[in-house]
Amino acid sequence: MPVARELAIDFRNSEDAQQTGNLYLTTYDKNDRIKRAVGALVVCWLLGGILVFPIIPILHIFLAAILLITGPVLFAIRIKQEDIKHRAQGTCPTCKKNITLELDNSDPLPQWTHCPECHLSVQLVALAQQEV
Ligand SMILES: [Zn+2]
Repeated sequence: MPVARELAIDFRNSEDAQQTGNLYLTTYDKNDRIKRAVGALVVCWLLGGILVFPIIPILHIFLAAILLITGPVLFAIRIKQEDIKHRAQGTCPTCKKNITLELDNSDPLPQWTHCPECHLSVQLVALAQQEV
């Protein structure tokens, strides 16, 4: 069962100033990862299998091949994906404004991003785990 969690993190800038914040994420156990991976594979291969037949004359050549290849790729990504980072909220260490950052799931923490208010670099560093 997916578990919504909140992780305490530090927001740091390049001059080592830091503020605290929270990272909101969803964690998947092994069974959930298998279900998500198989679901993605089945959907891609089902759509790819349907599009092998020339329902849409030109697109079926490209879409069938893309979907049949995308299925195993999504399976491999989702089977390894233990959590999905949704957003980070906290105070920017440079401009001291409260900010919310949408995060890229492919980058692990510590992660550099930009403050939406002052556009300067902010590093997100994990501290400790807390259940919500
Ligand atoms: Zn800022």
